[in-house]
Amino acid sequence: MHTHMIPKNLPDWEKKFGYGGFIRLEHHKAKWARMMQGEKFFREINHNSWDPEVRIQEYQSFSTKVQVVCTIPVLFSYFSKPKDGLEVAKFLNDDLASLVAKYPKNYVGLGTLPMQDVELSINELHRIKEIGLKGVQIGSNIEDENLNEPKFFPIWEACEKLDLAVLVHPWNMMGKKQMERYWLPWLVGMPAETSRAMCSMIFGGIFDKFPNLRVNFCHASGSFLSTIGRIEHGFNCRPDLVAVDNLNNPREYCGRFWVDCITHDKEMLKYVLKMQGSKRVTLGSDYPFPLGDLEIGEFINQMNLDTNVVEDIFCNSTLEWLNIKKEYFL
Ligand SMILES: [Zn+2]
Repeated sequence: MHTHMIPKNLPDWEKKFGYGGFIRLEHHKAKWARMMQGEKFFREINHNSWDPEVRIQEYQSFSTKVQVVCTIPVLFSYFSKPKDGLEVAKFLNDDLASLVAKYPKNYVGLGTLPMQDVELSINELHRIKEIGLKGVQIGSNIEDENLNEPKFFPIWEACEKLDLAVLVHPWNMMGKKQMERYWLPWLVGMPAETSRAMCSMIFGGIFDKFPNLRVNFCHASGSFLSTIGRIEHGFNCRPDLVAVDNLNNPREYCGRFWVDCITHDKEMLKYVLKMQGSKRVTLGSDYPFPLGDLEIGEFINQMNLDTNVVEDIFCNSTLEWLNIKKEYFL
């Protein structure tokens, strides 16, 4: 339920819009491309980032048939002018919609929103629904604003009404500039970002205001579940700081949202299952990127979990999150 995909060819948005920051692709050799931000190198990617057939084949080697796909977060382009952000989002969404139309049994698409403009995002949500995507992927912060900001409420409301699932993905990591070495933004920043998003949404009362909103958080909640004791203690000992918008204990929210299973650690996954229940733990991979769990389902198979728990992780939880029936894929 958590994989990334990019169109093989992107427009030169920097040239078109007249300012930088957008991602473009340089196909510098067969089957490989460089993701560039202006003249700055971001990441080299393989054709499994854009070729649907290659992806299906690679997934087959792990007995996996369906991929929930969304863009690579660096393409969110929340920094851009709203109308330009909308154009980027539409391009990415139309690309995924045509993929899903061509391979309905293998791909489920999550759209991108121009979150820098709430009205445009809501218009795009309606379009996302019409073109057959099942939800949206949203960043853990929106140009450094947290997800509890009241201005985002209409977006949650629209997702709830339109029956669209939400995936919150860490990105634009806090402290990035102060920890450039050792890949720390990915190892330290990303787990913190996800917890930042979860705490913001819980303490901001989002799950109470929109009780039918279905939200999934990447990387098994980042550092949220492993620090829930501290978060709960903070809520109890300093309600004047923490419980200002929501009087409910944060621990009560475990199991009301979904998380993926990307822990790279069996003991941690056992703990996540205990905290969430197997119906709220989904099979994430972060494919095709190296920090993901690319041997899809392998370590879960080795854990001697009950069959029903494995089935929940492998498909039932994701189906419930997306509100799709299993028969759809058979
Ligand atoms: Zn990811």
